[in-house]
Amino acid sequence: MTLALDATHDAARLSWVESANDPATDFPIQNLPFGRFRVQNEGAWCVGVAIGDQVLDLQDAGLVPNSDMRSIMGLDALARRQLRQSISAGLTQGSAQHSSWKAALHALSGVELGLPCDIGDYTDFYTSIHHATTIGKQLRPDNPLLPNYQWVPIGYHGRASSILPSGESFRRPMGQTKAPDQDRPALGPSRKLDYELELGIVIAQGNALGEVIAMNHAEDQVFGLALFNDWSARDIQAWEYQPLGPFLAKNFASTLSPWVVTLDALAPYRVPFSRPEGDPQPLPYLDSERNRLTGGISIELEVWLQTAQMRQAGQAGEQLSQANYRDAYWSVSQLVAHHTVNGCNLRPGDLFGTGTLSGPAPDQGGSLMELSAGGKKPLQLANGEARGWLEDGDTVILRGYCQREGFRRIGLGECRGTVLASRC
Ligand code: MN
Repeated sequence: MTLALDATHDAARLSWVESANDPATDFPIQNLPFGRFRVQNEGAWCVGVAIGDQVLDLQDAGLVPNSDMRSIMGLDALARRQLRQSISAGLTQGSAQHSSWKAALHALSGVELGLPCDIGDYTDFYTSIHHATTIGKQLRPDNPLLPNYQWVPIGYHGRASSILPSGESFRRPMGQTKAPDQDRPALGPSRKLDYELELGIVIAQGNALGEVIAMNHAEDQVFGLALFNDWSARDIQAWEYQPLGPFLAKNFASTLSPWVVTLDALAPYRVPFSRPEGDPQPLPYLDSERNRLTGGISIELEVWLQTAQMRQAGQAGEQLSQANYRDAYWSVSQLVAHHTVNGCNLRPGDLFGTGTLSGPAPDQGGSLMELSAGGKKPLQLANGEARGWLEDGDTVILRGYCQREGFRRIGLGECRGTVLASRC
């Protein structure tokens, strides 16, 4: 299916849910992101769409037959677009559904938000060349960007079991680290705990084992995007990552935001995808005219930090950096095409991480490792604190939004997690 702008993107469309018409909301009627919520602790998860400061229960509204998010994600691209159009029409001011759907609304302030779906498999990529170069300079000063980077969308298989919903805390990991002046490693709490500003890419239908998803069909197999924080223990990572890549430095926790913004909702914010002059062009299986014309997505991304001291003082936090997804070196379609070129199967609810999304400028690093030069130049915060790495009690908040002249601003909400002390 091609990208299409339709009535669901019309900036003039208003909702009978009044809070959705507030220019400041992340969730106007033009967005309609999917997620799971529950009204009572320990109750069953319901599937819903965020609208203003409310969530619409899709089953109660009669839009889907059950509360299984992965069966919605597994619908084909046309059926998903039609579902979005039905939701938009029913939430529009003056619609016939106004009175019946009112009972299917819940205030977001009164529900618990979970992971958007049960995640099957999780792969983390490495799509920012700015991140790869800055990190590479610290790990391998003579050889920062490995020769395969501009040809292969680099990735590794991560663990779905430790992906946490936004708002959940986790313990600082223990692990094996080796200081340069020691001849033996030791076990202890990570002293170089970091965050990674990423987007999560949620797979829709996917492919059967042995089949390949070509570039021109790749976006049909993507349900949408969410915010993703791939917490990383840099001291564990530095000691363990060669020769097979990240392992325990990454799999103790990652945090995914509750709302998945569909590719249909992101259609107005598409931008051309291009390579810097002189860089190799992608191999044919990673290239298409459509990708060159509209393969990029302009999403403004922000990292915020709220330390325990800020929380005690009633301060919401301080912004550490911003970046834009349009600066990624590999597009969403290229990740799908590459992941399946060998016949690897993707299934509804599988998750890709984009990898840390750093911008070209030094202050656009998507991790503390970049912003603090590996801990050597701690960030000075406005309240007098400093951070080379994360400390216990720190809350990291990721935010994202899209804006373009002539369209409504839509947001991805937030992705939030707090570091607790290690077990010893
Ligand atoms: Mn990562």
